[in-house]
Amino acid sequence: MDGRYVYDLSEGNAEMKALLGGKGAGVAEMKRIGVPVPDGFTVTTSACVAAMRNGGTWPERLWDEIQAHLSTLERRTGRTLGAAERPLLVSVRSGAVLSMPGMMDTILNLGISDESAEGLAAESNDPRFAWDSYRRFVQMYGEVVEGVPGQVFEDELTALKNRRGVTQDTGLTADDLKELVATFRRAVRLSTGHELPTEPREQLRRAVDAVFGSWNSPRAKVYRGLNDIPDDLGTAVNVMQMVFGNKGDTSATGVCFTRNPATGARERYGEFLVDAQGEDVVAGIRTPRRLPELESVLPYAYAQLMATMDQLEHHYKDMQDIEFTVEDGTLFLLQVRTGKRTAAAALKVARDLVAEGEIDKETALRRIDPAQLDQVLHPALDPTQAGTPLTRGLNASPGAAVGRIVFDADTAAERGKAGEAVVLVRWETTPDDIHGVAAAQGVLTAHGGMTSHAAVVARGMGKPCVAGAGELRIDVDAHTMTVGDTVLTDADTLTLDGTTGAVYPGALPLVPPQITDDFSTVLGWADEVRRLGVRANADTGEEATKARELGAEGVGLCRTEHMFMATDRLPVVQRMILADTTDARQAALDELLPMQQADFEEIFTAMTGLPVAVRLIDPPLHEFLPDLVEQSLLVQRLEADDAPAELERARALLDRILRLSEANPMLGTRGVRLLLLHPEIGVMQTRAIIRAALAVRRRGLDPRVEIMVPLVGFAEELRRMREIIVATADDELASAGVTDLRYTVGTMIELPRAVLTADEIAEHADFFSFGTNDLSQTAIGISRDDAEGSFLVPYLEAGIVPANPFASLDADGVGELVRIGVERGLRTRPDLEIGICGEHGGDPASIIVFDGIGLDYVSCSPYRVPIARLAAARARLTGPAYDDR
Ligand code: PEP
Ligand code: MG
Repeated sequence: MDGRYVYDLSEGNAEMKALLGGKGAGVAEMKRIGVPVPDGFTVTTSACVAAMRNGGTWPERLWDEIQAHLSTLERRTGRTLGAAERPLLVSVRSGAVLSMPGMMDTILNLGISDESAEGLAAESNDPRFAWDSYRRFVQMYGEVVEGVPGQVFEDELTALKNRRGVTQDTGLTADDLKELVATFRRAVRLSTGHELPTEPREQLRRAVDAVFGSWNSPRAKVYRGLNDIPDDLGTAVNVMQMVFGNKGDTSATGVCFTRNPATGARERYGEFLVDAQGEDVVAGIRTPRRLPELESVLPYAYAQLMATMDQLEHHYKDMQDIEFTVEDGTLFLLQVRTGKRTAAAALKVARDLVAEGEIDKETALRRIDPAQLDQVLHPALDPTQAGTPLTRGLNASPGAAVGRIVFDADTAAERGKAGEAVVLVRWETTPDDIHGVAAAQGVLTAHGGMTSHAAVVARGMGKPCVAGAGELRIDVDAHTMTVGDTVLTDADTLTLDGTTGAVYPGALPLVPPQITDDFSTVLGWADEVRRLGVRANADTGEEATKARELGAEGVGLCRTEHMFMATDRLPVVQRMILADTTDARQAALDELLPMQQADFEEIFTAMTGLPVAVRLIDPPLHEFLPDLVEQSLLVQRLEADDAPAELERARALLDRILRLSEANPMLGTRGVRLLLLHPEIGVMQTRAIIRAALAVRRRGLDPRVEIMVPLVGFAEELRRMREIIVATADDELASAGVTDLRYTVGTMIELPRAVLTADEIAEHADFFSFGTNDLSQTAIGISRDDAEGSFLVPYLEAGIVPANPFASLDADGVGELVRIGVERGLRTRPDLEIGICGEHGGDPASIIVFDGIGLDYVSCSPYRVPIARLAAARARLTGPAYDDR
């Protein structure tokens, strides 16, 4: 970098994204390869960053540089900003390094004034166009730079249309628009107390400054938070000569994709409006027409656009998202970027581009964000139980959603965060609604097209979205939505099918997602590349079956206590806990044994031929008893009721709860501590495991048994527990006369002491499995339940911690412990098998760390298995990650 803050378009290229932003670099690259783009220059992201660092004050040279580039632009175009004759009009557009669609501000038609509007009218012989451009400028400048609420202008525009009896903006005449300019200017004066500045260079300076400022708008911050985009990148600002899509019937503007961004199909996809400017398409104010119709309207420009789409896709070797304008029949491209797409489309496009010979498999894998796979794993409407749609809109983002109706983003955010399933229903969504979209199951809008903000944002988040449902009438104040005679309120539930665009009243049944051929093919490529094994955490046969379908290579964690919680078992478990005599306890355990055995049989069956790590009971016993407060209240009630027998039972239970209660159960009598205190529980579980394996083997299957001990902190704990397990298992095998059923005994490593003494612990372990949930809690000294509900959120907001350490591994701290544990364990037993089964096993960022440490496998919930497979492959691939322009 040579320290300049402004670059001419002809000086840039695609490689300069960090400095010029995605848009600036993209337009420069188009110019470089001969695609028609308007002339202009780019103010760099480093200018924005310098201004931000300096409390908003620009670096000294910046304004001079901008003015110099403007003068050059004026010379090249033979036009002058704000001049009465041959006026130069420019667009001032933001351009982040990583794409943030619609999150920052844009001002079009800058440079127009009373004089230049007349000049433009004379030059174009089209006064309507000149005044339309002017009123758009006042509107955007007023909103973006002066902070006048957009609704003020929309209301004035609607009022004028009503007075003139027209429904479309295009129905207004030049005189109407001239009147509107005056009205808008008055609105700015009333709202701000001062006139709109008339000096175009001053307007330009303030517009650039406003675009810098929009980097820190609330919606931009929310978007960055949701997409892990750093806050300190800043935005570039692109100043380009205006090209006009609003010059009558030979002009148009639109947005298109080189392939279908919802399905990935190899087809032209997009929308346009005749006689309009770019903002009209994305803002969803007029409902746009589908791209193929452009052929009959402007055949020459259409043919040129098709050829340019091919050229750009081939150049970038990926699906592109393009903004274009046709001015008087001449095509200009305003922007090109990697097209955002659904996961289904990402898989199809990647597979097709490999088949077309454009990219190799590794590049294809690098382009799919593992977290995005969640989308194809999402539920859809059950096709056998189709309801009758209430109405239809555009199928803007696939998947099905069921939720309570909510009419504003704040409420959606509030109720969604509280755990309620809500569907956000809006006239149209604006970027300010992003927090509501994030918290909702899905989004329904009455207005706007496939490329409206609602659609783009929902697709990015993998939320179902039905957009532009034109029959829908919404009364936000009355909390009602109406279609024909049907009125629904915020007490009602709605089902959306973002795949078809249908909207149903009530809650329809959903089915699990279909795994397509594209999915299997691409995940197959990931399997060829990855080194890490991927297992699943599964507690039931059903989960194990699902996990295997999704590619799991075994079970890394079966939490046996989950089986105790089932309603038919809890009373038996409670009897076991409350037993006063050894005999009574044994009787309860004898009853539990066949139940556990049946569960294990299902899992071993589902995972035949693959390892299954069954963990002995972990939580403290009081978790299986009623809540202390509720039981105290029950005793009080019974005391009043005069029911002596019941009262005695309730008191006995309360007494036991009190005795088992702990000040800090997370660090109390649980895991191996509990098992050593009550060996009969571990004995019962071991018998159930071995008997299940024997039963499954008798059916000709191949159970691979691993028995895992939780919460070990001392080697001596594991030594003793192993002795109990081995004695019991061998006893079972001997009684069955079986000598060749292999089983292994290993331990969770989830305490810092276990890490530091891993060499000693490994003396008694055939395998380790890092329990990074407990290890994070105990290493950082944070209890997850206490943290997530209180200080963790402000910590994240203030940037004290970069991410929730329970979702994404704290690589420097907890990751370092895993590294030490692995190293020490292997020192004792070089053949030790080592995995991880905490939540982090399904988190792509953590998987990179685990791969680097050299673990054998990760284990995660069944639906995250494909994500882990892909993430494990990407951890092996070097080179840049997905290029998100
Ligand atoms: C862990 O601690 O990471 C673990 C997998 O065990 P649990 O979450 O059951 O405590
Ligand atoms: Mg644990």
